[in-house]
Amino acid sequence: MIEEKGILFILSGPSGVGKGTVRKALFSRDTDLKYSISMTTRQQRPGEKDGVDYFYKTKEAFEALIEQNQLLEYAKYVNNYYGTPRNYVEETLAAGHDVFLEIEVQGALQVKENFPEGVFIFLFPPSLEELKNRIVHRGTESAELVLNRLKEARKEIEMMDAYDYVVVNDHVDLAVEKIQSIIQSEHLKRERIAK
Ligand code: 5GP
Repeated sequence: MIEEKGILFILSGPSGVGKGTVRKALFSRDTDLKYSISMTTRQQRPGEKDGVDYFYKTKEAFEALIEQNQLLEYAKYVNNYYGTPRNYVEETLAAGHDVFLEIEVQGALQVKENFPEGVFIFLFPPSLEELKNRIVHRGTESAELVLNRLKEARKEIEMMDAYDYVVVNDHVDLAVEKIQSIIQSEHLKRERIAK
């Protein structure tokens, strides 16, 4: 049975939960998934490459993309814009490939409006205490900013019910294996529907 269109997978979850780490571990394994590289206005970090980690844009260029409806979703996160290029996602799915997004919660909810058939995976922290530790130890942020992030993370956790799957990130390799199982079963489900 040939599936014609690819499946859109969305990995999301609260700030500090480890989405980036899990996504990189997933892509370091053999996978047919296509990762959609996001656009952002945030500064390029040392070691990051334009066109690999993100497409780095000025605020003006990003706002022009919004105007031209070239983004499938976008959100402002810590004073920077982040967004998913619409054409890449639509064309890659149409060519029969699965596409994988790793985005924050506001953006994921926008994707759900446009792509209700997408598979939404919520990465959950082992505990709020653990999430707090990760946010606190992330770097140089002030106590106030840490508190804001925690408040934001609690609000994001309330969005969990809108997702198809919840994966607890207590161990990166286990979380990756669970995501791989989800991908496999979503294919089986669609093959069955197509019969
Ligand atoms: P960072 O600046 O640490 O790379 O990413 C900050 C946050 O932005 C992370 O939660 C990441 O998942 C999210 N993010 C990355 N790309 C996108 C995107 O295209 N859209 C949205 N809504 N969030 C994104």
